Amino acid sequence: MIDAHCHLDLYQNPANVIREIEHQGLYVIAVTTTPKAFEGNLRFVGSSKRIRVAVGLHPELVKDRACEIDLLCSSIPNTKYVGEVGLDGRSEYKASFGLQKEILRTVFSACLDAGGRIISIHSRSAASAVLDEIERMPGLGQPILHWFSGTDRELDRAINMGCWFSVGSAMLTTKRGIVIASKMPIDRILTETDGPFGMVNRRPLMPWDVKRSVNELAVIFNISAYEVEKHIYKNLRSLLECVSEPLPP
Ligand code: MN
Repeated sequence: MIDAHCHLDLYQNPANVIREIEHQGLYVIAVTTTPKAFEGNLRFVGSSKRIRVAVGLHPELVKDRACEIDLLCSSIPNTKYVGEVGLDGRSEYKASFGLQKEILRTVFSACLDAGGRIISIHSRSAASAVLDEIERMPGLGQPILHWFSGTDRELDRAINMGCWFSVGSAMLTTKRGIVIASKMPIDRILTETDGPFGMVNRRPLMPWDVKRSVNELAVIFNISAYEVEKHIYKNLRSLLECVSEPLPP
């Protein structure tokens, strides 16, 4: 199973979570919300074979952390994964929206310079603007829109542009989330939790809760959970091929 967007460092006890990830043989992309957190994450993830650490700067933090952009860009050559980055267009982040765009453009350009990266992207209330930025930068790598919540037209546009999607149980608690997921091409979907932010029944999702989204996607696509897992594993394999990463054991 795969958790393609998880904030490993924000759980109460990351060491225990890592142990359980190893025990269950999960594949995890550990996103970070600040470039400074990246090095620390690399240290505590250690030699874990199936956990990959992404370097990011969350759009909600851009207003206070824009000064870390140089650190972010200088870390990109050291990892194949970038995230969480993106844009947030909600009113509380409107004041920093111009700065968010500037930062995202700089990050995408660094991804392009590095030969392309797997990028986990936040696009809340800003799907069109995020797609505009992706479109401006061909060769940036493989964008994965995490917890996508745009309109049908924005979803169609994202699909036509070759974007991938990561889908979690928190997204699938809403009717709209289910409708969006049902329209995604199954060969471009990965499971995620967005834990500990992603919650179901007021409980933070744990990386192994991706099992829930596998079952939910099985219902949505009217196939067995086993078929969903097969698709997702195949998707992971082709995703890693695009950055020449070997599939973990
Ligand atoms: Mn997140």
